[in-house]
Amino acid sequence: MKMFVKKGIAVLVSFSLFVGMLFVPTKRDTVSASDEKLVIVLDPGHGGKDGGTQNTHDGLTYVEKNINLSIARYCMAELQKYSNVEVYITRGDDYTANLEDRVKYAADRGANVFVSLHCNSNKKSSINGAEVYYPNQSLYPTIGTVGQGLSASIIGQITKLGIGNGGIHTRNSEDGEKYYTGEPSDYYSVIRGAKKHGFVGIIVEHGYLSNASDCAHYFQTEAQLRNFGVADAIGIAQYYGLAKTVYNGVDYSMVYDPYYYLSENPDLAAAFGADTERGLWHFVNFGMKEGRVACENFDPNYYKKNNPDLESAYGDDMGAYYNHFMNYGYTEGRKGCEDYKYIYRGVDYSAVFDPFYYLQRNPDLAAYYGSNRMASLEHFVIFGMKEGRQGCAGFNVFAYRDNNADVCAAYGDAIEGYYLHFINYGQYESRIASY
Ligand SMILES: [Zn+2]
Repeated sequence: MKMFVKKGIAVLVSFSLFVGMLFVPTKRDTVSASDEKLVIVLDPGHGGKDGGTQNTHDGLTYVEKNINLSIARYCMAELQKYSNVEVYITRGDDYTANLEDRVKYAADRGANVFVSLHCNSNKKSSINGAEVYYPNQSLYPTIGTVGQGLSASIIGQITKLGIGNGGIHTRNSEDGEKYYTGEPSDYYSVIRGAKKHGFVGIIVEHGYLSNASDCAHYFQTEAQLRNFGVADAIGIAQYYGLAKTVYNGVDYSMVYDPYYYLSENPDLAAAFGADTERGLWHFVNFGMKEGRVACENFDPNYYKKNNPDLESAYGDDMGAYYNHFMNYGYTEGRKGCEDYKYIYRGVDYSAVFDPFYYLQRNPDLAAYYGSNRMASLEHFVIFGMKEGRQGCAGFNVFAYRDNNADVCAAYGDAIEGYYLHFINYGQYESRIASY
């Protein structure tokens, strides 16, 4: 299960509703600020006086703190290629930093996720392979669940490099320490600390420096360390549904869905696999001109056929239709495709919900849902309406309330009711729903 935990409590409360717990939120710290991004804090383990584990094989000495820092730098560089992310590093160089300060640094930056990067060691030199530690189910089960999914995604990428798969694990406190709920604490300080602050903390152990083979094959060269950093980044990006939609400074997310593009164009999938960066390169340089459809909600052929003014100007220059829609057409209210109906449990939300609009307005959700529009509808129905989020250009719930005194008298502060009133009655009565 894929989830986006923002500042812990807001989404946790939402999710506890989702799984049916009897908890009714009154007011919560919603996450609708339009500039909000997924905040990732990378934590290169050890540093300065604390070197971590250190081993020598075949005359080469492997020092954990340095390896962790290199991997983190490569990971950071890779993550910064994605849209809607902010990446921080707890120590950007070789200095000493204690564990509490690292977690506090992450909390101060509004971290959604804290990824501590390490290498392992064992007295038995034959032990090898990568492992990831994630939060247990205590205190905030959602954090455990998110951490588990994230860890699985990361180890899936790391082990593609060929290193052994030591699995993903939780580890409970071994000295009887408990959270205030009475449930067992997490063993690792950074995982426990992150959880107390309301975000996910995991520890990636990339391999064993005590194992000569792991060192020779995975920790010996900068290129090998870069492979780990990139693998970690891809694991994080895939779990959170991050995508590369910015090319030469232009954001194509309005007309281009990286996953749709590769899945709907088998020739490209065959050529590029799951490489969304190359997919975007292809789309911008070839796909647009070829009129390839790159997302569910924009079809340049439909746009051409339904806008005769543009057709006379652009003819068969398919790229021009894309550019027109991105720069003018969408804000002019021109349709980019046939109508989609958004129906959830028998209710048609199309009058108040447009997934494209919703995801554009709420980058936190875009980071979480990627291009999954039906999942974004589910979010809108279960949480978004209660939070008063605007789901489409034509319906603003607060404008609807302020302009319709009779509806306001009936629903008061029950924001959700206004949406349903508009769906069932208001849209047919031509009631005012915007400022
Ligand atoms: Zn370590």
